[in-house]
Amino acid sequence: MELFGGIEAGGTKFLCGIGACPEDLSVASFPTSSPDVTLEKAARFFREQAGTKLSAIGIASFGPVDLDPASETYGHVTSTPKLTWQNYDFAGAVARTFNLPVGFDTDVNAAALAEARWGAARDVLDFIYLTIGTGIGGGAVAGGRLVHGLMHPEMGHIRLPHDSTQDPFPGNCPFHGDCLEGLASGSAIGQRWGEFAHDLPANHAAWALEAHYLALALATFVCTLSPRRIVIGGGVMQRDFLFPMIRHQLRSLLNGYIPRRALIEEIDTYVVPPQLGNHSGVLGAILLARDAYLKRP
Ligand code: ZN
Repeated sequence: MELFGGIEAGGTKFLCGIGACPEDLSVASFPTSSPDVTLEKAARFFREQAGTKLSAIGIASFGPVDLDPASETYGHVTSTPKLTWQNYDFAGAVARTFNLPVGFDTDVNAAALAEARWGAARDVLDFIYLTIGTGIGGGAVAGGRLVHGLMHPEMGHIRLPHDSTQDPFPGNCPFHGDCLEGLASGSAIGQRWGEFAHDLPANHAAWALEAHYLALALATFVCTLSPRRIVIGGGVMQRDFLFPMIRHQLRSLLNGYIPRRALIEEIDTYVVPPQLGNHSGVLGAILLARDAYLKRP
């Protein structure tokens, strides 16, 4: 049986894994530093775990990234604020380091693939996967295929109604200020309230505002992408009391306009947490590796 490796490359940490499914997975994680240092650590993990037996490696990368196979900069990380990674040929460097086929996609697209294969979206062909963490990202699957298009969806950067009387925080997205990520990411919560999201008590005003922004975003995604399910993970969603708050507000915002049971009486199974815990991204990277292996020249 072929053996595949996965790298979930996050802005703050790398998670590397080898395995065939969630029950058969060994992982290691280390902080994201410069590309050379971080890739050396990944190489050591794969050597120790698999020797020379890997058939392909998949990368689930923080973004933005170039996913257009016809582009000269395919596989590069592009306009990230992390300077040593700007315009870095990530897929190329991994291919040269390991001399193996490499699969490459965004971290959220990969997580969506894994949730579709083993997790919370096993039974649907049309869904979105969102992560609400330090930043906000989203992947969309339509008809069983990831949406790529011009680049890849950047659901974290949609614009939202922002009442600055109710919420004077101007937002912290370096590109847009008060886009969804600028208002509702973990870092925005931290800056607005002067406390980390995981330290704020459940009855803090932060959470009603957070549920409001997330429900506004979800209403937009429901109306534009028509997903059959919405899976939401990431550090902020560890505060799981947010789920009923978001569902309630989403239902109110849509106001019966989309007359499907999923959005009314079955909303508890429509907006759901991931089922693969913190391993959606790395398992998705393994699926990208398998895909790259099957499509190798
Ligand atoms: Zn933005």
